[in-house]
Amino acid sequence: MVDPESGLDAVRDVAVSGGRVAEIGNSLAPGAAEVDAGGLVVTAGFIDLHSHVNTVAGLWLQATDGVTTALELEAGVTPVAAAYRMAAAEGRPVNYGFAASWAMARMEAVAGIEPEANLSAFLANIASPGWQRPAAPGQIAAMLARLSADLADGALGIGLLLGYAPASTPDEYLQVCALAAEAGAPTFTHARDLIEMVPQAPVDGAEEIVRAAGQTGAHMHYCHINSTSHRHIDRVLALVARAQAAGARITTEAYPYGSGMTGIGAAFLAPERLAERGLSPSSLIYAPAGERVASVDRLRELRQADPGGLALIEHLREDDPGDRALLMRSLTFPGSIVASDAMPLTWTGPRGPAAADPPAWPLPRTAITHPRTAGTFSRALRLLTRDGGPFTLAEALSKCSLWPARVLQDRVPALRRKGRLQAGCDADIVVFDPAAITDRASYDDSTRPSAGIRHVLVNGTFVVRDGDVVTDARPGRPVRADPR
Ligand SMILES: [Zn+2]
Repeated sequence: MVDPESGLDAVRDVAVSGGRVAEIGNSLAPGAAEVDAGGLVVTAGFIDLHSHVNTVAGLWLQATDGVTTALELEAGVTPVAAAYRMAAAEGRPVNYGFAASWAMARMEAVAGIEPEANLSAFLANIASPGWQRPAAPGQIAAMLARLSADLADGALGIGLLLGYAPASTPDEYLQVCALAAEAGAPTFTHARDLIEMVPQAPVDGAEEIVRAAGQTGAHMHYCHINSTSHRHIDRVLALVARAQAAGARITTEAYPYGSGMTGIGAAFLAPERLAERGLSPSSLIYAPAGERVASVDRLRELRQADPGGLALIEHLREDDPGDRALLMRSLTFPGSIVASDAMPLTWTGPRGPAAADPPAWPLPRTAITHPRTAGTFSRALRLLTRDGGPFTLAEALSKCSLWPARVLQDRVPALRRKGRLQAGCDADIVVFDPAAITDRASYDDSTRPSAGIRHVLVNGTFVVRDGDVVTDARPGRPVRADPR
């Protein structure tokens, strides 16, 4: 067993009872049911701070990658109480939780779009210019009131998809961060454009996050530094390191893939803006049809017809050693957390992309997603610990469980019982073969489960047993701040 907090890496018995780890020791008394984990690693389940997956089938895929808690923090949802209610009513295989959504609060305040507490509603309106306009003071006040109500309802923090509304002002951002600081809640930002890409941007996207930490005292979590920094990762990391050294509360995350994925109608995928990122239409693959976008005209058509349709975006080349090294630096940066940015499943073929996920397992090949949904944690562990990888297993596991718990534990003290494998902790446990663990999902076969993960328990109940999903288990519980 490996406990990432104490660094204990030893052969021990782990006793589980009542959803908690009851005892860890040598030669414990036999239990009612036993699992022989000889030769395997037993450790705390992975806490994904960045999962847009909100269906049972999608969460099964994440569970087979070792995820025991999947949190929607970057986009967030509004109203947050409705999201918790819907997840509880349906049942979840893994623990779940939500931040309040600045983007959805903004859509409501600036464009009158009713928030529906799910990502699909955001994606459906992603391209509408109405919500991306600069906001009047009264509209900002309405936004802040909505976010404030969500925080009072137990939202884990505030998610800011800032890069999707680049005309919003730096002052509005600071007001939202100040609100979070006042509530003792962290913020999760998809950065605005970097100054290297958009010289006329009102502020550099990385500088803005760092300054907000200093000016408001908020805990700023910098989402997927690998994807929004493009080939400027070293500059961004150096900036973050300087601010951290000066005492700013900034945490970072990365996923180990060169391509991103978002709604094809996103502001920064407008044909006239692709060059800012060194992209062309053919850098995009429209997922519902598996179609590489052939031309500017075709991109315009797709953005018009299906703005929320997901598209892969090739930022960094995984076959280029220089780009691979950049990606690795975003993962190995001190304190950097592994977070997947897992995407909802897109259904292709006769079922049609609009249908809700059927609880199918194994997933049919007609269900597609970004491979990061299926493989982020296994791939990160392989890259970080095997074949000359730079970390010990305990260090690499800290990035997947302990450090994400620490981002949230001031806001939600119950997180102190997650991300560790100690007596009294929640029995969110992953059991894997350290020599065999690897991702198997690819851009062409994106829902192929990872290999080497043998068992996954959530609150003491198996959701993956002997490498396969236990389809009738719904032991996931809400991770939520105490409503006020
Ligand atoms: Zn993002």
